[in-house]
Amino acid sequence: MKLRVWGARGSTPTPESANARYGGNTTCVEVRLENGTILILDCGSGLRGLGKSHTAEFGPQPVAGYIFLTHFHWDHIQGIPFFTPLYKKGNSFFFHSVSLKAEELQGAVEGQMVSPYFPVDMSIMGAVRNFYDIGTEPVDIHGAVVSSAQLNHPQGCVAYRVEADGGALVFATDHEHGSAAHDENVRRIARGADVFIYDAQYTPEEYEREKKGWGHSTWAEGVKFARDAGARQLVLCHHDPDRDDRMLDRILREARKQFPNTLAASEGLVLDIPPRARPKSRSTSRKRSTSRMRNR
Ligand SMILES: [Zn+2]
Ligand SMILES: [Zn+2]
Repeated sequence: MKLRVWGARGSTPTPESANARYGGNTTCVEVRLENGTILILDCGSGLRGLGKSHTAEFGPQPVAGYIFLTHFHWDHIQGIPFFTPLYKKGNSFFFHSVSLKAEELQGAVEGQMVSPYFPVDMSIMGAVRNFYDIGTEPVDIHGAVVSSAQLNHPQGCVAYRVEADGGALVFATDHEHGSAAHDENVRRIARGADVFIYDAQYTPEEYEREKKGWGHSTWAEGVKFARDAGARQLVLCHHDPDRDDRMLDRILREARKQFPNTLAASEGLVLDIPPRARPKSRSTSRKRSTSRMRNR
């Protein structure tokens, strides 16, 4: 399994030269399985670049993508109108979210393109679009088991865990630490993850001074969760719009003192997640990881 970051910024895009290295696009992560299946975690403005790369890679070939939205705040859905593969006949996209109200997902995705907010609505899109309000049970996407956990965030949010090809990746952004039940969810879903992507919007000082109750966390809490969960690698994400590259470098240095295997997510970052233990055959490994997930 391989992941690529297309957007790592939180709250709003920040196209500024001082942010150029980490990037200004809002959150979007692409996951590719060994069998070629494409998963997309969140559709922030980074989704536009992902669409361009798919067009260049696949040309006239049809493309299918399995999209998982953590929640419907703008910074996690605003790339959808600019994702050109959606406009192309022959492509298929399967939108998933863990929502409490039926049809909330389709309404949230299509609602941002209704008049007067956008010149065309989604009916103009040629790709097949399916919407799945999934519950809390894990789902199987061509061999990837995707499970979720509720986070502490205004209007709610979920973390996703993708278990595939013998590895595990966890995407846990938009979470404010401090709620015991939600923090336990984070530790549980991140347990033993190879890559743990976490909401590090604020510094611990900013959080204490003025950001309590805003729905986000800090790099220091990310370190604690990564340690408690036994995660192999911590990836700081959902960078504050006011955080420039130099400030992010400083935060990364601090975090590495406490958890050396830490990265700060940046646009274009590619992580290869190799299988943890080489199984006799790949299908055996998948079966094993599936049953482990379902029994949790
Ligand atoms: Zn956000
Ligand atoms: Zn949010």
